[in-house]
Amino acid sequence: MARLEDFRIEELEVPQPKDGEVLVLTLYLSVDPYMRSRMNAGKSYVPPFEVNEVITGGVVGEVVESRSPAFQPGDIVMGYLGWQVYQVARSEDLRKVDPKLAPVTTALGVLGMPGLTAYFGLLDIGKPKADETVVVSGAAGAVGMTVCQIAKIKGCRVVGIAGSDDKNEYLEHELWVDKTINYKTEPDIRGALKTACPTGVDIYFDNVGGHISDAVTTLISKQARSVICGQISLYNLEKPDVGPRVQRYLLVKSALMQGFIITDYAARFGEGVNRLGQWFKEGKLKYAENIVEGFENAPRALLGLFLGENLGKQLVKVG
Ligand code: NAP
Repeated sequence: MARLEDFRIEELEVPQPKDGEVLVLTLYLSVDPYMRSRMNAGKSYVPPFEVNEVITGGVVGEVVESRSPAFQPGDIVMGYLGWQVYQVARSEDLRKVDPKLAPVTTALGVLGMPGLTAYFGLLDIGKPKADETVVVSGAAGAVGMTVCQIAKIKGCRVVGIAGSDDKNEYLEHELWVDKTINYKTEPDIRGALKTACPTGVDIYFDNVGGHISDAVTTLISKQARSVICGQISLYNLEKPDVGPRVQRYLLVKSALMQGFIITDYAARFGEGVNRLGQWFKEGKLKYAENIVEGFENAPRALLGLFLGENLGKQLVKVG
C-alpha cells in the first residue's frame, strides 16, 4: 500500500506557454488504480513513474492562455497531463471537451477511459447475448458500473460483486443489477455466487483478481468468456500471488480467458464514445462520481481506491 509520505507537493512559478502551447488550469484530476502499478519499477504497458517527477494522468482543465490557433482561453480540454494546478501543454496533446454535451467530468469517467474500457472489454471480448449471466467484480467502480449497465442493455442477467452494502444497494436500485454480493461480509463467496448464478457464469468481467476470481472461475458455464480487465486486489502485493490453476476449468468448459489494455482499442475510441454518449442521452447509462475537493488531497484519493472509498469514478476537484 502506498503511503501519503510517498508524495510531495512543490510550489513553483506558473509556467509560460511558447508557440504551439497553452496554459491549462486543472479543474479535475482522475485517479485510477493503474497509477499504483506505475509506482513500481520495471517494464509494463506504460512506463513507471520516476521518483521526484510529477505524476501524470487524466486531467480535465480550462485553457487560460493560448499560443495555439487550435484553442481559445475558456476552452475546456482533456489530456494526459501532470498533477499540477497550472501547466503548459502542447496543443496536440489536448482534445476539446464540450460542456454542453455532458458534465465535463464524464470525459474522465463514463464517456472517457473507464467507459471505453467497459464498452470494448464487455462487447468485444465478452460478446454478451440476451439472457446470459454476467458476473462483474469491482462492480460499483467506474468501469464496473458501466459494464453492469451495458450488460443490462444487452439483455443479460447481471450479478455484481462489491465491497459494501451501500454500493450493492446502488447497483440493485439505481442500475437494475439483478443480484449483488458483498465480498467483505459474505463468508462463502462461491456459495453465494452459485445461488446467484443457478445456470452458471457465461461472462466474467474481472476487475479485481485474487480469491474473488478464483471463486467465479469454478462456476463458469460451457463456452464462457472471462474478460481480464484489472487485478486490483494484487497491485499492492510484493510477491506474486499463487492461486488455484484455472486451466482445467477453461478446458472442460471450452472457455476463453482474455486480457486487454484499453489502448489496444485506440483506433475505435470514436465509435465507443459515440455509442456511450447515445446511451447516456437516452437515459440508459448512468454514472456516479466520488469527488474529493482540493489538489492537496489527490494522494489521499488515490489511496482511497484501494480501501474502496469510491462509488463510481474517483476524481479530485482542483480549480
Ligand atoms: P474503481 O473500480 O472505480 O475503483 C477501485 C475499486 O476496486 C474500489 O472502489 C474497491 O471497491 C475495489 N477494490 C479495491 N481493492 C480491492 C480488493 N483487494 N479486492 C476487491 N476489490 C477491491 O476503479 P476503475 O478505474 O473502475 O478500475 C477497475 C479495474 O479496472 C482496476 O483493476 C483497473 O486497474 C482496471 N482497469 C483496466 C483497464 C484496462 O485497460 N485493462 C482500464 C481501466 C481500468 P470495493 O468497495 O468493491 O472493494
